[in-house]
Order: sequence, then structure tokens, then C-alpha cells
Amino acid sequence: MHLIQASSRFLKFAIQKPSGTRFQILNRLIRNPISGFERVYSTAAATMGTVETDVELLRKSVIEKQNIVEKQGDEVRALKASKASKEAIENAINQLKELKLELQSVSKELQSRLSEDSGGAMSKEAFRQAVNNTLERRLFYIPSFKIYRGVAGLYDYGPPGCAVKANVIAFWRQHYVLEENMLEVDCPCVTPEVVLKASGHVDKFTDLMVKDEKTGMCYRADHLLKDYCKDKLEKDLLLSPEKVNELKQVLAVLDELSAEALGAKIKEYGITAPDTKNPLSDPYPFNLMFATSIGPSGLSPGYLRPETAQGIFVNFKDLYYYNGNKLPFAAAQIGQAFRNEISPRQGLLRVREFTLAEIEHFVNPDDKSHPKFKNVADLEFFLYSREEQMALKSPIKIRLGEAVAKGTINNETLGYFIGRTYLFLTALGIHKERLRFRQHLQNEMAHYAADCWDAEIECSYGWVECVGLADRSAYDLKAHTEKSAVPLVAHETYPEPREVEKLVITPAKRELGLAFKKNQKMIVEALEAMSEAEAMELKAHLESEGKAPFQVCTLGQTVTLTKDMVSISKEIKKEHQRVFTPSVIEPSFGVGRIIYCLYEHCFYTRPSKAGDEQYNVFSFPPLLAPIKCTVFPLVQNEKYEVTAQLISKSLTGAGISHKIDITGTSIGKRYARTDELGVPFAITVDSETSVTIRERDSKEQIRVSVEEVASVVKEVTEGQSTWGDVLWRYPTHTTNTADD
Ligand code: AMP
Repeated sequence: MHLIQASSRFLKFAIQKPSGTRFQILNRLIRNPISGFERVYSTAAATMGTVETDVELLRKSVIEKQNIVEKQGDEVRALKASKASKEAIENAINQLKELKLELQSVSKELQSRLSEDSGGAMSKEAFRQAVNNTLERRLFYIPSFKIYRGVAGLYDYGPPGCAVKANVIAFWRQHYVLEENMLEVDCPCVTPEVVLKASGHVDKFTDLMVKDEKTGMCYRADHLLKDYCKDKLEKDLLLSPEKVNELKQVLAVLDELSAEALGAKIKEYGITAPDTKNPLSDPYPFNLMFATSIGPSGLSPGYLRPETAQGIFVNFKDLYYYNGNKLPFAAAQIGQAFRNEISPRQGLLRVREFTLAEIEHFVNPDDKSHPKFKNVADLEFFLYSREEQMALKSPIKIRLGEAVAKGTINNETLGYFIGRTYLFLTALGIHKERLRFRQHLQNEMAHYAADCWDAEIECSYGWVECVGLADRSAYDLKAHTEKSAVPLVAHETYPEPREVEKLVITPAKRELGLAFKKNQKMIVEALEAMSEAEAMELKAHLESEGKAPFQVCTLGQTVTLTKDMVSISKEIKKEHQRVFTPSVIEPSFGVGRIIYCLYEHCFYTRPSKAGDEQYNVFSFPPLLAPIKCTVFPLVQNEKYEVTAQLISKSLTGAGISHKIDITGTSIGKRYARTDELGVPFAITVDSETSVTIRERDSKEQIRVSVEEVASVVKEVTEGQSTWGDVLWRYPTHTTNTADD
């Protein structure tokens, strides 16, 4: 996805500096308990509601009690100074002691509440560490160029990571491309400058950067301010309620702040370089695109694409023709995008090369209804509207149909994609309570955009934007039409010709030539370029006064026109068709971010049978699992191995990805190994006629004949039956193949 809509970074700059090409007109559950970490997340999920309020109340109470203690201290001092009776002084001192004890107790409670939260934060760190250790150890991902110490923001996917990614992409194609008959394209990553100039990326695809004034280290300005505010809110015990509110407000509008506003806040709060504590420069824009040149001459500048969307826009004319010149239709593209992130520090979440899956749904701007909206209208999930964010309230669970009917979501087509995205993410294993759709704030959104929402998923890093969904109106097609001079438009043929009122401006070239000589051409052009309102105003002026001043921007002067120099009228004309630029509704999926959140949402640990070890498990749904099934001979025995090979052959025939483990390790250890890869089913061969199938999370086992085993695994992995269904059909198994 691209600029403006989801890239608030881009917008910030666009707003603060409304000039340039594209912006010239800018005015503007886990199924099993996750041991200790579950608490972290239930706390985190509640953070937006009760927990913060409790902490705030405690904070207030500490401040009140401090004031009372101070007053009582003054009272004691005053009594002593006035040489009051011993009894009166002792009474006052005893009261002071009691008040101090009360203060101590409330302070302690606040401390423990905060340390519980920061303990939570530490647990989050530890949780993240455990997930990432497992991911790296089992080669879900590998830091790229590791033997050369790696490069920040670049990661390889190892074998299970590749399989997970392939599954996500296959499901995406099925859920969107197949379901909506989308037109898929595959365009190059290397893009000539002209395309990205037209789209606005060359001028405006920037983040605001600050530099350590002594070492030159670079940081993202908004990230430093965000860290400061969060840290203060978490750790400063005695923040006044006003200050708490101010910091929260800054966090709420962070994406809207201009360079000047960000710089002012950084100065006001005395924020310094995190690594050295040196002073920081003022924020300034840094373009995130990787520049290159195309061909050996070095004369043809290009960039690695920062998004895939532009490839679709520039192909609009051909795709529209391919679609029988009919709207609406959607085009889709999956591919690599490149962004030279300033300081990528959130592991797999913020990288410099990543896979995007983008949809551009082209629609008649006058009709954004969607025939299939009713299929998703009854879904209920968390929406975080602009109003709720500005009022520092929590997201609200709401029926999608209601949100569209109330106008919270601008139109049915945008609502439809929001609903489909909810279904897509939750089917993959994203936890419903940790998914919300957040609306862009007014200034976070481009002036031309009708509405924008981000699908945000909560993970140990907080709420992360994983999918951007935007109604970008006609902006992109218009920008490329203007730059390429190829009309990227759609036609609507009327069943019957329609009579329409048209403005007709006819400059009298002869009179204008006589009066203005060589400037005639520019005046004619300026007259023809008038909007309807301007033309009607000029007409009224000429008719009442006989002459009128007329400003010609290209001449840089105002000339006086007389009545005979231009004729302005409205005429009724017959039209057979309407030509218009379609609006585009764009869902844009960061595949890597979704995958990382899935890793976190699916990870849990459970103790070994002896209780002396913790085993890691990824509870991937079969759809996502890198390998669907493992096959183990119970003991090393030739007959069992032959049976295992037979089963493997039938699994291959059924199209089930699987792995045979014939190592002599204990069966419990082998189960633990496959649980760590998130393999949902394990077949243990303990006879030549029947075997057991074990389900990863419940550890329940059923006994199935060798002939049937592949078809049973196929049923449960492809979703025709659930594990619960097959549990009823087959005898359960409890002995010899038990876990450690
Ligand atoms: P944007 O065009 O900035 O809205 O980005 C579209 C999607 O790309 C976002 O919703 C993210 O999921 C993903 N994305 C953006 N930047 C990065 C990055 N540096 N690393 C990984 N994913 C990213």
C-alpha cells in the first residue's frame, strides 16, 4: 500500500509543506493457557480500559495524600512555633504519623501496580525473547547475511518460515483473488523515476529524522517522542493528572504532528539521543526509497518500489479493457517492497524489504455499494473510530452493518473489505480480542481520501498496523493521467442519451488579439480554464459593468476584459456517455507483519510431564502450519519403518506436507520437537495395521487403521472435519505413545 493512506509519515510532511506535484493541492485464544504470559496479554487487552483508570486513581490519591501530609506537617510546625500545649502537639504529630502511613500504603500500592505493569512489560520482553529464540533456532527466520554480522532490517525466511509464508499467501489468493475474481498482476520492483514522481513518492515519501548532533546517529523523531511519553506514563509516579492527559494527547495525535510541532515537543521535553544523551538536531524529512539507475549509462534514474500499488495504477487502461470495460473490478499484486527505514528496531515488524499483498478495487465514485456486503454485515469486532481516539476512549465492539449505516465507515465497499480482512486474519489464527480496526485521524489522512482504517494487531510491541484499508478516491489515476497524458478513465454509456447543461466559454480571439497582442494566447487559455463558478462570476460582472478585471496567473497580471471579448453561456447538450475517473479502494497487507503477529498469538509454553522443562508450542491452525503432520515409528524397528514409509506415500498422494522422524529419540522428545514447529498432527506407528494420530494442543490421540490414516489427516487439515468430529468416530488411545 502506499503513501498517505497508511503512511502517516508521508502525510505529516505533506501537510506541513503543502507544495510539490502530488501534494500541490494539499490543504490539508489462544486455545491452551499461555502459562505466565497470558496474564501479560489479558492485562494488555484491558489496558485501554480499567487498568489505566486504576493507576490514575492511585496517582491522584498519592498526590492528595501528599498535600494532606504537607499541610499536617505545617500544622505541627505552627503548633510548635506558637508554643502550643504538649498534648496538642503530640496529637498533631500522631495524626501526621497516621497520614504518613496512609501515604506510604497508597504509594506502595501504586508502586506495585506500576511494577506489575512494568513486570508485565518485562514479561512481554521475556515472552518476545522466547518466541524469537524458538523462531530463530528452528529457522523460521535467519538474520540476513548473518556470517557477515547481518544488516539491520533484513531477514531471510528459513524452511518453516517459507512454508508459513507460502500458506498465508495461498490463503490470501483464495480469500481475495479467487473469491472476488480479481485480476492479478506481477510488476517489476525496479521502477523508473517518472512513475514515482507522478505518484508523489519522489517528493514526499519521507519520515521525519533527527540526528545526534555529536555522533551523527539517526533516529525517527516520532519514535523518540513516543518512547518518552510512554516511559513517563509508565514510570513517573507523581505525574499530575493534567500532565498524564497531556502526554496521552501527544500520543493520540503523534501521527499528525508536523516537523515543527515534533521539534518543539522534543525541545520542550528535553529529549536527547537515546544512546549518548547528546542534543538532537531539528527534525527533517528523509526519503525512504532506495535509489538506483536503470541501464549502464546511469542517466535513467529509478527506485526500488516502496509499494506494489503503482504497478496496478499504471496498468489501469489495459486491465479495464481486459475486464470488458466494466466497473467495478479489482486488481491484485503480491510482491516485494523496499523502504530504507531510518532505524529498524522492532525485529521482523519493521524491515527494509518486505512482501506486500495489495488490492486496488476500482469503483464508480457515485456508487460505492457492494453486492456482497450483506455477507459480512453481521460480523462484530473492535472499531476504534476517530471520535473515540480523540476523546481518549477505548475501541468499541460494533456490528459492521451498524458502523456503515451510521457512516462511521464511509461506504459499503470499504466496509466489505474491512469485514473480509477480519475473517482473513482470524481464520489464520489472529486472536479476535487482539485485533482492532483503527480509523485514521483527520490530518493523518490525505485531503482527497474519503476514509482510511488500519487493521492493528496487538503483540508484545503494542498495537501494530498490519493492513491498511483506504478509500483513496480518484487521486492515483488522476495523478498518472496528468503525468503520462494517457487518460486512465472509465466510461458509462447511458441507455438513453441524456440532456445535460454544459458551460460554453468562447473567447473572441480577434478582439483579444487587437487588445492584448502577444498576450492573447495566454488570456484565451486562462479563460478556457475557468471553473463554472469563476465563469459565471465573470459573466455577471461583464453584464452589469460592461467590463471586468481578469487575473491571468501565467502572465502574472490582471487585465481588463470587455463584454465583446468573451461569450459565456450554458447550453443544453445531448450526452451518450459519461467519462469519469474511478475511485479506488485499497486494502494493503504487510505479509511479514501478519506472520510475526501470528507467531506471537500462536506461541505458548507448557511443562514437560516431569515438570522440569518447559516445552514451546506454536498452536498454528492447520491452514497455517508449515508441516501438517509428522510420522514417527514408535521404536526403531524395520517393520514400523516400512509402515511409516507406506503412510508417507499415501500422505504425499493426498497432498499433505509431512515429515518422517526415524531418530531413536524418545517419543516425548519427538513430539516436543514437532510441537515447536507447530505441526498439528503426529502419526505414531506402533503396529503394522493401525497407528495413532495425536493432536498437538490437546495431546489427545485416536487409533486409526493404516489404510485410513491419510484421509483422516486430510479431513482435519483441510477443514472438512474438526478434531472433535474425528474423536467421536475413532477409538481414543491412552497408552504407550504418551508424551514426556
Ligand atoms: P503503508 O503503505 O505504510 O501503509 O504500509 C502498508 C503495509 O505495509 C502496512 O500495513 C504494514 O503492514 C506494511 N509495512 C509498512 N512498512 C513496513 C516495514 N518497514 N516493514 C514491514 N512491513 C511494513
